[in-house]
Amino acid sequence: MNILVINCGSSSLKYQVINSDTEQCIAKGLCERIGIDGSQITYAPAGGEKEVTVTPMPDHTEAIRLVLDALTNAKTGVVKSLDEIGAVGHRVVHGGEKFAASTIITDEVMKAIEECNDLAPLHNPANIIGINACKKLMPGTPMVAVFDTAFHQTMPEEAYMYGLPYEYYKKYKIRRYGFHGTSHSYVSKRAAEVLGKKYEDLKIVVCHLGNGASISAVKNGKCVDTSMGLTPLEGLIMGTRSGDIDPAIMEFIAHKENKSIDEIMTVLNKQSGVLGLSDNLSSDFRDLEAGHNNGDANATRTLKTFCYRVAKYIGAYVAAMNGVDVICFTAGVGENAALVRSMVCEYLGYLGVTIDSAANGKRGEDIAISTPESKTTVMVIPTNEELAIARETVRLV
Ligand code: ADP
Repeated sequence: MNILVINCGSSSLKYQVINSDTEQCIAKGLCERIGIDGSQITYAPAGGEKEVTVTPMPDHTEAIRLVLDALTNAKTGVVKSLDEIGAVGHRVVHGGEKFAASTIITDEVMKAIEECNDLAPLHNPANIIGINACKKLMPGTPMVAVFDTAFHQTMPEEAYMYGLPYEYYKKYKIRRYGFHGTSHSYVSKRAAEVLGKKYEDLKIVVCHLGNGASISAVKNGKCVDTSMGLTPLEGLIMGTRSGDIDPAIMEFIAHKENKSIDEIMTVLNKQSGVLGLSDNLSSDFRDLEAGHNNGDANATRTLKTFCYRVAKYIGAYVAAMNGVDVICFTAGVGENAALVRSMVCEYLGYLGVTIDSAANGKRGEDIAISTPESKTTVMVIPTNEELAIARETVRLV
């Protein structure tokens, strides 16, 4: 069966078609600047030429119409008609406490997703628009929602509660939810598979280090803690997000710089992280690695602070699980930045970690980068959220 996987943002939409028998992606692409001047669609059939077409996309329905046209194009399409697409899997960012698993989309489910809008005002409304646009254009096709938060719903209360007045939890459901769940779930399962061990027998720490970054503790196949919170701002230092800070800093900056709460949130979400910490050198770890290698103090400080925070969270999660068997690195930075991995692992001597530097230099494969003698196994597992969404979709339809 072919599964269309949709990841819809407020002005962009990523898509992939995955054949569930071979688990291969047969086409993928991106619509950008939806509802803005200069919108364009990128379409890349597997093994074919990538096409970029600049064309008006006043709304998401038009964007999805263009995606479906590209997929069924007589010359360059990958399916003859939409009948060859068996189901659609939608990434939905926030499922609140309502969704601990993926689900077939019904009218009731749509209502429940809408009720989570408050918790993710930038993301959930866009996800809903994408689902509605697909329903309009593919009325008979089953659709599945796969939530970023669902995998983390197994966290125990002591891991998800904040030290805030309990009434905020009762009134507004203010608690820690965590994100990147599809990736944490996929990578931890894959690690067990690659090692030939039972998922339910392992204590795994997954470091999802991309532009957004989070860590999770997966004990006996269940997430017991993760570093992102009510929103993706908590936890690690990220590309442009601050991660954990003393909340009183917000008041301090507001007074000193005469900023509103919205402006402060923009600073914390868009101008902080490794971008801000490097004095605006870059949010991209390729630039930071190059800077560090050329003796740039901004780059070195940033990498050291980023890696220290990762190592500190690993330590916290080893404590939460009373041990660890496997530590996995994934996502753009985790999969590609050998320097970041080795700097993090320098803190892990107490876990008996020894790194095989030749293995750490490889890219693009599921691989152990620790030596056979290492007491804890350290791995690189490339994440594949689209495949995970396609698998969930097939399982449910
Ligand atoms: P997201 O999905 O959160 O946007 P990704 O997981 O795609 O992010 O990660 C993107 C980041 O990965 C880039 O911003 C960059 O910092 C990092 N990255 C990508 N390729 C490399 C590389 N070859 N070396 C080091 N870092 C890389």
